[in-house]
Amino acid sequence: IILNPLTLNKVKDGVRLPTYDRSEIKTGIFHFGVGGFHRAHQALIMDNLFTMGLAKDWGICGVGIMPVDQKMRDVMRDQNCLYTLVEKESSGQLNYRVIGSIIEYIYAPDDVNALIERLTKPEARIVSLTITEGGYNTNPVTGEFDLSLVQDDLKNPKNPKTVFGIVVEALKRRKERGVSGFTIMSCDNLQENGKIAKKSFLSFAEAIDKDLSTWIEKNVTFPCSMVDRITPVTTEVDRLKISEKLGVVDQWPVVCEPFIQWVLEDDFAAGRPTYEKNIVQLVKNVAPYELMKLRLINAGHQAIAYFGLLLDHFYVHEATQNDQIVKYLQSYMDFEATSTLDPVDGIDLNQYKSTIIKRFQNPNVLDTLARLAVDGSDRIPKFVIPVIEDRLTKCESVWLSTSVVVSFTRYLNGVDDKGKKIQIVDRMNEKLSVLDKKLRKDPTAISDAQEIFGDVVKNKIFISTFKEIYEKLQNEGAKKTLDWLLSKY
Ligand code: NAD
Repeated sequence: IILNPLTLNKVKDGVRLPTYDRSEIKTGIFHFGVGGFHRAHQALIMDNLFTMGLAKDWGICGVGIMPVDQKMRDVMRDQNCLYTLVEKESSGQLNYRVIGSIIEYIYAPDDVNALIERLTKPEARIVSLTITEGGYNTNPVTGEFDLSLVQDDLKNPKNPKTVFGIVVEALKRRKERGVSGFTIMSCDNLQENGKIAKKSFLSFAEAIDKDLSTWIEKNVTFPCSMVDRITPVTTEVDRLKISEKLGVVDQWPVVCEPFIQWVLEDDFAAGRPTYEKNIVQLVKNVAPYELMKLRLINAGHQAIAYFGLLLDHFYVHEATQNDQIVKYLQSYMDFEATSTLDPVDGIDLNQYKSTIIKRFQNPNVLDTLARLAVDGSDRIPKFVIPVIEDRLTKCESVWLSTSVVVSFTRYLNGVDDKGKKIQIVDRMNEKLSVLDKKLRKDPTAISDAQEIFGDVVKNKIFISTFKEIYEKLQNEGAKKTLDWLLSKY
């Protein structure tokens, strides 16, 4: 028996079910990229609002455009868009809940014109996106929208295949028919995600017709947001266990951590659900919240990743059960990162930091250090270097933040402190291996690595701090180096 509205009465006790009448919910949000994260995040919040009797004209219509989404379409059809969300608490407790806020699902290639027509109707007031970081077609070098990737859609505007082709064609028809615009709301993990989305959609529209892009600029808003909730890929074991608990089969449940956050710019072109009634923090400017996340969570992940691997830990929760690593992470956040943040209204930073450690310690999320280390050459400059730069301009010490960079360069040796091999997965692998050889001969050669770390490598204090920590780490290992670093505070 498969989970769907007709079998809900067969679901065993201990699973929370929708208590509202789904037939009363009308579509207002079209969401592109219904994967794990959307179903653990925005869809949950809408489910909460419906449960409170609010926002009934803001039901979600999921949209898939990629071939992989055919599976989601089939599951959504079989289950009438119901699915189970399981929050895994650190204590081991699992909270099961069936979510009903997605009320329809469209797989665009089945009938793209029908989808465009739906998006042209006034009911479409928010188009939200979790289409992954790469989905915005931004060239990593120039930062510009890559038009070469959307040539087919530019040539066949009536039969588009990308989110840009579909949404812009709908906006074109709205303009022609005198229907006003809607909000395009990116929920992807990108700094200034709204600005990136705006650039991509406007660049695409401009390649069709300048008037159209001007109209979109006036009639469509692109709020930025900061989203947070660790949502790992659903495994076969999850699927089996959850179906067993339910007593009916859920073909594609979602698992996630209990923590959830959404800070959202209040800039909507055609209304919005009463988000403020549940979890969402509506603000004028998301930037300080993004900075907080990048410099505490993302940089914090980097701080534990390489030291953790050198000390032969495998999972994030294992590394953060090591007291020395926890103390190091806490010190990095308290003594170096925090002073570089802007004021963040409505957030108690001490509590935020202790929550980060608790989240990392959750043994049920099963996040690996190796995953955090993938493409470190991209992450260190985005998350850690800005902290160093900020502090150097203020003549503040940079021992801890620099030690994160050092731990990355020590990890490039490809072996841990016991001599066990570490697999390095990084798109700059070749350049990093050259750097590794140079640093082993002379740590001040870090000053040649501008291409990877930016101008900071030319700073004399950075170079001398780097050298001292590098030599310590190479000669005495991670444990002693961490003790030595911590003894400074
Ligand atoms: P997922 O793989 O479960 O789902 C991704 C969805 O995006 C799929 O439906 C896929 O078809 C679609 N997609 C991919 N490329 C696309 C493109 N070019 N155009 C249109 N659709 C495209 O992944 P997920 O875990 O749901 O994560 C999606 C995004 O959500 C992440 O990339 C990230 O930006 C954000 N996010 C994820 C997490 C997390 O922990 N998983 C946390 C915060 C934010």
